[in-house]
Amino acid sequence: MNSIAQNLKYIENTLADGVTLVAVSKTKPIPDLMEAYNAGQRVFGENKIQEMTQKWEEMPKDILWHMIGHVQTNKVKYMAPYVDTIHAVDSLKLLKEINKQALKHHRKINCLLQIKIAEEESKFGLSENDAIDLLKSEEVQKLRNVKIKGLMGMATFTNDSNQIKNEFDRIQVLFKKLKITFTEFETLSIGMSGDYKIAMDCGSTMVRIGSSIFGVRNYSI
Ligand SMILES: *Cc1c(COP(=O)(O)O)cnc(C)c1O
Repeated sequence: MNSIAQNLKYIENTLADGVTLVAVSKTKPIPDLMEAYNAGQRVFGENKIQEMTQKWEEMPKDILWHMIGHVQTNKVKYMAPYVDTIHAVDSLKLLKEINKQALKHHRKINCLLQIKIAEEESKFGLSENDAIDLLKSEEVQKLRNVKIKGLMGMATFTNDSNQIKNEFDRIQVLFKKLKITFTEFETLSIGMSGDYKIAMDCGSTMVRIGSSIFGVRNYSI
């Protein structure tokens, strides 16, 4: 088995220019994260606020923490002091709460709108039209403590690479269209361990990779 540092290096060597790697460390213990940190990794992704906050408290302060999971409005306050980017923003209500909590800490929090591109019913996210309406709404334009930097999507969990490509293509088209109007748009967060190469072919600027770096997750611990 390869070490975390070796896995990280391998992945880095396969990334296209300008693609940011979010090392998805959910469920993994701090020593594993520190191995990646010591190999130079500074961007980590977590999907539970409590777990992320505990890691933030104990780890070096130059880490950029990305919340990649679904966020409940009432929990935003716990990560507002430090979170760099929230990937799965899918409502005006959540965006307003992020803005309110960021303001309390005199911060600006980066946000990505999650677009529903997968067939599966279980995946969260906005429809393309709802995302456009949200971005254009006056209420959103007034928010000063959030910066909506782009889109995030998750493809269907399938071996059918054509289907994955079609889903990533759809979000890429939307991203390019929105970029014309929303000049702050720079991030298209698509691609995980199993599909990040397809995602890069579809214009990904940020990949979220967990198991290929840290090994498979054991949820029973
Ligand atoms: C867990 C997770 C990932 C990473 O998945 P891997 O298959 O382990 O690379 C990426 N994005 C989100 C939203 C996740 O929840």
